[in-house]
This record gives sequence, C-alpha cells and structure tokens, in this order.
Amino acid sequence: MSDRVRHIISLSGGKDSTALAIFLRDQIPDAEYIFCDTRNELPETYEYLDRVEAYLGKPILRLVDQRRDFDHWLDIYGGYLPSSRMRWCTKHLKLQPFEKHVGDDTVVSYIAIRADEDRAGYLSTKPNITTRYPFKEDGITRADVHKILIESGLGYPSYYSWRSRSGCYFCFFQQRIEWVGLMERHKDLFEKAVSYEKTLADGKRFTWIPDLSLQELRNDGKTAEIKTEHQKRMALERGRRRKNAALVDVLDDDEAFWGMLEAYQTESPCVACK
Ligand code: SF4
Repeated sequence: MSDRVRHIISLSGGKDSTALAIFLRDQIPDAEYIFCDTRNELPETYEYLDRVEAYLGKPILRLVDQRRDFDHWLDIYGGYLPSSRMRWCTKHLKLQPFEKHVGDDTVVSYIAIRADEDRAGYLSTKPNITTRYPFKEDGITRADVHKILIESGLGYPSYYSWRSRSGCYFCFFQQRIEWVGLMERHKDLFEKAVSYEKTLADGKRFTWIPDLSLQELRNDGKTAEIKTEHQKRMALERGRRRKNAALVDVLDDDEAFWGMLEAYQTESPCVACK
C-alpha cells in the first residue's frame, strides 16, 4: 500500500456520472476514470463512453472480468436471475472488479448522487475506500446536470430517447416501456434477454419482470397496453410541467420525461449502474 491517495470517478455511461466527471475534471486533475464493464451494456453506452473519454482527454479504464461473466455467475446462482432482492449482478460484475482494481490503496471514490435524490446507493464498504458525493455537497440537481451536459457539448447518451439510464440491456430495473424500447431498437439483445427466462417443471418462473415474461410482453396486445399507459403518463407529466415554469425553462422534453420515469420507479438501481 502506498501513501498516495487515489481519486477515482466511476463512470456508468449515464448522464449523472458523466456530468460528475465533467464537473470534477479541472478540480481533480489526477483523477482516474473507470468503467466497470459487465459486457452486457448497450452499444449506445460504449459509443457515449468513447465520446466522454475524448472530452475528458484521459483514458477511461474499462474493468472487465474476462473469465467470470454474467453467464458464469448465473450458473453459480442456479439460474436465478438477479433482482432487486438478490442483486448478485452488481456485487460480482460492478463492485468486485472495482474493489480488485483498488486493492489496498487509499482511495476516494466520487459518486454521482444528486442533491435532489434521496438514496444511499449500493457501494463498497471496504475501509480503505472513502466515498464522496460532490453533487450533494454542492447542491447540484437534475437541472444542473442537464446544464453541465449541454454546455459541455456532450449532451446525453443516445439511448436516452427510449431508456432512462445506463446499465445492462437486460436490467431488471427497467420499466416496461423500456423493455418495449429494447425490443424495437435492439431485437437481438431483446431475444437474448428472452433466452434467459425459464419455466421449471413445477411451474416456477424465472423472469426479468416479476409478474410478466418477455414472451408475454411482446404479445401485440400487451405491447399496445404498455404504450397506451406510457402515453397517459406522458400527458400527466406535460400537464405538471406546464404548471412549473422553472422546469419548463431548464429541462427539455426528453429530460423532463425521463425524470418522470425515474420518479415512477419504486426502487433505486445501484449507483454503479446508474
Ligand atoms: S445494470 Fe442492472 S442488471 Fe446490470 S449489474 Fe446493474 S443492477 Fe444488475
């Protein structure tokens, strides 16, 4: 272990961690940028990370466990798909590669939880890792993140037109409308996600969504129902925004919409996956 303190900013390929890297770029010139690659990310995420890397002017180290991928761990867990109650994916594909990279070094890890968010995250508890929340410390909200991204010229990752956050293409935190988005934009990845779902002889089902299989979701009637529900939510959100001049001024339609989607989520994805 050296005396040097390492400053690490973990990028997820999402808007908040990207904004944090931009925000801290000049404050912490010796920061290391890392990305824990599950090898199940969206193509748009990899493309965005390349652009972020060019903007930052420093490499983003991709941490990948080549030997033990998602399928390896799925096998270990007896075919049980990860879920919010059994989040083994985050532990093995995000946290452990990070901790291995850090080793016993003294590290400050910078996490992109905003001042307007109320959650702790799913983080390493190793004693040599200190966690800091610069957005919380400086009162940075979603509107500020928007400003940082637009002013930098980087903007948003392109998946933002149909999905609210980064992470694995099969992430169980996805809303149903996002699964529909995956089905329509990345048919191959949707089919791979379908192939992970199973029904055992005793009728027990392993599905990404607790009460709905992807086979059921892609049924025309169900897809139409999900889209209709989504349109209703959008109409509600537009009405709400019209009453809030501050939001109209600083957030564009997509950002407001995905903020709404975040708000509808009943559980918080891991910080590393955000
Ligand atoms: S993005 Fe979702 S599926 Fe992937 S590691 Fe994170 S919580 Fe698990």
